This record gives sequence, C-alpha cells and structure tokens, in this order.
Amino acid sequence: MKQLLKNYFGYDEFRPLQEGIIKHVIQKKDSLVLMPTGGGKSLCYQLPALYFKGITIVVSPLIALMKDQVDALKLNGIEAEYINSSLSPLEITTIQDRVRAGQIKILYIAPERLALQSFRDFLIKLDVSLIAIDEAHCISEWGHDFRPEYRNLKQLRAIFPKTPFIALTATATQKTREDIIKQLNLNNPKMFVGSFNRPNLTFTVRKKQNVFKKLLNLLNKYKNESIIIYCFSRKDTENLALQLQAAGFKALPYHAGLNKDVRRQTQDQFIKDDISIIVATIAFGMGIDKSNIRLIVHYTFPKSAEGYYQEIGRAGRDGLPSECVMFYSYSDRFKHDYFISQIADPSIKQIAETKLGQIIDYCERTICRRGYLLNYFGEKYNKDNCNSCDNCLNLRDEDEKDDVFFYPQYKKEEPTIRYHSPLFEQLRHLRKRMANERGVPPYIIFSDSSLQEMSYYLPDSRNAFLNIQGVGEQKLNDFGYDFLKIIKEYAKKNNLHSIYIPNRYNRKFSRFKKDIGVNDSTYSQTKKLVLQKLTVNAIAKHRNLSESTIISHLERLKATDTSVDFSYLKNTIKDYEIINEAFSRFSDNKLKPVFEHLKEKYPFEQLRIARLLQ
Ligand code: ADP
Ligand code: MG
Ligand code: ZN
Repeated sequence: MKQLLKNYFGYDEFRPLQEGIIKHVIQKKDSLVLMPTGGGKSLCYQLPALYFKGITIVVSPLIALMKDQVDALKLNGIEAEYINSSLSPLEITTIQDRVRAGQIKILYIAPERLALQSFRDFLIKLDVSLIAIDEAHCISEWGHDFRPEYRNLKQLRAIFPKTPFIALTATATQKTREDIIKQLNLNNPKMFVGSFNRPNLTFTVRKKQNVFKKLLNLLNKYKNESIIIYCFSRKDTENLALQLQAAGFKALPYHAGLNKDVRRQTQDQFIKDDISIIVATIAFGMGIDKSNIRLIVHYTFPKSAEGYYQEIGRAGRDGLPSECVMFYSYSDRFKHDYFISQIADPSIKQIAETKLGQIIDYCERTICRRGYLLNYFGEKYNKDNCNSCDNCLNLRDEDEKDDVFFYPQYKKEEPTIRYHSPLFEQLRHLRKRMANERGVPPYIIFSDSSLQEMSYYLPDSRNAFLNIQGVGEQKLNDFGYDFLKIIKEYAKKNNLHSIYIPNRYNRKFSRFKKDIGVNDSTYSQTKKLVLQKLTVNAIAKHRNLSESTIISHLERLKATDTSVDFSYLKNTIKDYEIINEAFSRFSDNKLKPVFEHLKEKYPFEQLRIARLLQ
C-alpha cells in the first residue's frame, strides 16, 4: 500500500485514519467515513481502486469537481474518466467503450445517471470492485445540502448488493449519519470518525471598525495568494469587489444572482490562479477543491457555527498554515434577525435564533475559539491554549487599540524552516504555465507544499526530486526535467547546495515558513533595522511608519522568527524593571491587566515593547 501511495500519489505517509480505512475497504467491507474537509477522503477509495482488479465507481454531486479530480488522477498516471451531463453523447459512448474494455480504473458518475435504465444496464455488466459515494450527506434531508438525485443511489445498492460501498462526508451530525446508512442500505458498515480539528488554521475575530483598512492590511499580507471573502448580501459582494479593484486587487464578486456563465468563468479564473480574491455570498465554495486557499475572511458574521466551519473548511486543504478572520459587529445581527423574522415555522425559527445566539457567543468569547468550535461539534479539546487563535495568542487588546495592527500568522513551538521564496515564485510561474498548457488548475500539478519543499531542499537529481512530497513516478516523468532545471539554475546562481531529503515519518503538516528575508517584505526591512539595533522610534522614522506599526512588525517577528534578539531594547524602555515586574504577576502576557495594574501610567506602546522581552 505504501508503495502505491508513493508511486502514484507521491506521498510517504498516510494521514490519520487513511490506512485503517483502506485496509477495511480492501477486505470488501462497507464503511462510512466522516472526516473534515482536507482530511484526505479521496485517497480512501482511490488507493483501493488501484489495488482491486475491477473498476471503482465514484458518485459525486458536483460536475466541476469531477473534472478536476479526474484530471488530477490522470496527472498521477491513473486511468480515470467521468460521465455527466457536460459531455456529449458521443463522448459518453467512447468512454463507455473504454470502460467495457477494462481500460479505466476509476469512473466518476453524476447521481442522475442512475435514473436512466440504459445506464444501469451498462453498469450491471461491469466488473465493479468498489463503489464510493462522495459527499454522502447529500442523500439525507437532515444534511445541509440535500440533493434529490442522490436518492437514485438506492438503485445502485440494488444492482450491486455484494460490492463494497464506502460513503464519505465532512458533515457529521448523528441524524445525518444514521440516514446515510439507512438510505444507502450499508451492510454492517464500520464507521470511521476523524477529528474535526484543523491544526493548520488560525482563527481570529476582529472588531468591525475601520474594516476596509483592516481588510487591506490583511490582503497585503497575502499578495497573489488565494483568498475568499464572504459577505452578507449579493450587493455587498459587488460593492466590496469594486472597492478592492479600485485599490488594485484582482477581485471578482460571486453570488447566485449572477448568470451561470459569469459564475463559471469567475470560479474557473480563481481555480486557475488568474484572480486571487473572490468576494462571495455563501453560494460560493461547494465544488471547490482548490488546495491552496490561504485566507478566508467573513466581512459579516455568518448565521451559524456550522455554516462558519463549512466555509472556513475551504482554507488550507494542503495542510499549510492558513488564516480565518471574521469581522464582528454586534449590530450585524439585525441583518440576520430580519431573515429570521420571515421564517413562518415557529420551531425552525427557534432553531435559527439559537444558532445565531451561538455564533455571537463565539464572536464575543475571550477564551480559545478552536475549543469552542470543536466542542460545538461534539469533540473534546483538551488543550488550554491552541496557540493559533487570537485569544490564545493574546491579540485582542491590540486589535482594540490599533487599526494597522498585524496578527502573527501562525505560532508554533517547533523551529521553522525557511524556503527560498524567490525560487518558490519561479516554480509557481512554471507550474502555472504547465497548467495552462494542459488546461488544468495549477494546484493539481503540484501543491504549494510540494513547491515549498522543492524550494527548501533544492533537489538536484531525478532521485532527489522523487523524494519531494507529491512527486510520484508519472509527475517525475512529466515535470521533473523542467522543475529540476529551474531549481538547479537557481542553486548555481546563488551558490547553494542541495539538502539531503530524509525519509520523514511525520510530514502530516508541513512546517515550512516563507523566508521573511525577501526584499519586498515590509517585515524584512524592519528586521534589518532591528539587527542594527535601532530603537523603535528610529526605525519608525527611518521607515516612515508609525511606532505602533513597527511594534506590530516586531511582534510578528517575535512570533515567527526565533533568531531575532530584542534584548537591546531594554535600555530604551523607561522604568523597564517596574513594567517587567508587572508582567511577571500575570501569566498570560495580556496587556490590559498590566496596564491597569500600573495604574494606566504607561502607554500601551511602551508595554508592548516591554512584552517583546518577556
Ligand atoms: P477531502 O476530500 O477530505 O476534503 P482531499 O481528498 O481532497 O480531502 O485531500 C486534501 C488534500 O490532501 C489533497 O491535496 C490531497 O492530495 C492531500 N493528501 C491526501 N492524502 C495525503 C497524504 N497521505 N499525504 C499528503 N497529502 C495528502
Ligand atoms: Mg472530497
Ligand atoms: Zn485557541
């Protein structure tokens, strides 16, 4: 199995649960898999498909997604096709012939196909080894996305009573689970329930004040990366997209009121990295498997925590650090109240009110947000400090004090490894070119994390290249030459050597950090001046920025770059010893308690500088 994993998918290790699920499936038993978005559900049926002799049928509700998944499989050298209404009758016939000839390992089908007697006749004659039902919650009226076509799947079970079924979903309420098992008539299924924790996501809630300015700062941090901004109304999406365009960003609106072609085009441009920002209503997202979405912003808080988790679930599927920021203003609740007041059924209305109350609790909460969300979904979270939400990172005070404030993106105990970001950019361009040539989205050629590994290890041979995560035999053959060429040129020009790639056992979440030494980074400019031991005031003058902005740079440096030494600032802080003593009284390094303890005598800026030395 490990061999198949490396040869075809280019990975050395399974993600949690994958191995157990695959073992169960190849024993031809039924399973129900509940794993969060990005957990790696597809592999649970794709790998067994390679192992089995016959064909694997995958039912999936989203036409656009089918094409991307099939393209991704083909790039890995796996014979896959799909049949849905986007194909012409001739194309369908051709594929059916190839399926009959045993040339296809994995066939994706849309559920409505099963309503056709002729299609059922076609299936019944095949040697079907496995049937996978993706997004299985669509079969249940209890799920949030019921699709009547999914009821056709009952017929599938009737045709193939003995074939193993695997049903997969990221929504997991008890009712939905039971319903999936019942509707699909699963045979004594084993249930696999993954943790819904997404350790690579950071959660922040910020006051919705000077919100556009705060948003611009945030977007500047993610130049050229993929971002979704969720708005309350269609009108909001259009207005905000226009404002962002005026500010020089490549942003487009997306909502259900736009015509189908426009929507498809916008989605396509986003998936292909031609535009980086989508400003959308919640109509956007289903059918997006894009793995490198780095930031999800809620411009207005959503109507429930379920909805919220679903929407932010789209961030960071590749496992790289990604950020979820919500702008919160209590007054936005009246927008929701209006809609709730229109609900006629009193019990549904009651539920909507409860859910609204819960998401407001989430926004107003002052302790760990990750813990809240996981508890909400019935999962215990034992850590006191997740180290990746605004409350655990002690960032609330600053938000209230200072609008240009930047959040440290991600803080982890582990040492960070820096990759060469100029090389990463070059590889990203190459990836884009190759994707365009093949008419596929860039992220299915290589994920961002694969490119980061390349930009760190600088592989200099085909063998070394094969050790990069995400490089299997087929991709080595198709892309190895061009990528290696650029990597080698870069290494030569900068006099760098390849780094030996160890056989890592724990690469579940990549620990790579962007090299903040790049020229265009505002942090790196500040960092240089810190290394010259300038005072905060001098750095601010030098850079023509406010002191408080500089302090926020330093805070970020402290969180992301352990090599920087701030101790020289001690001499520049008046009454440092007194302030230091005050910090030592409170364990969590929050500013407010210290500020109050010192009888409001010292300004916040001064306390923030002192805190850098804690
Ligand atoms: P889901 O369907 O659960 O949302 P996907 O199957 O789309 O998740 O997988 C999310 C991402 O994780 C994909 O980019 C996939 O290639 C990657 N992935 C899956 N399994 C592994 C693994 N064992 N090692 C590394 N990456 C993986
Ligand atoms: Mg999936
Ligand atoms: Zn937390």
